Amino acid sequence: MHYIEIGDKLILRKQHPCGSKQWEVWKLGMDIGIRCLSCGRMIKIPRAKLEKYIVAPDRTRLAY
Ligand SMILES: [Zn+2]
Repeated sequence: MHYIEIGDKLILRKQHPCGSKQWEVWKLGMDIGIRCLSCGRMIKIPRAKLEKYIVAPDRTRLAY
């Protein structure tokens, strides 16, 4: 189980239609809210599903 906090930057296997794989967490819960760092679009995704998508190690803070 990944440890996720609001404000964490994640690299996901899931690519947004805009081409970015970098996301920022903005909501926690059963569904995790993530925001695309390229276009700013906010989506919600079930936690279990999100964990399968995570590529970068836990708590990675990306420079961008
Ligand atoms: Zn995007």
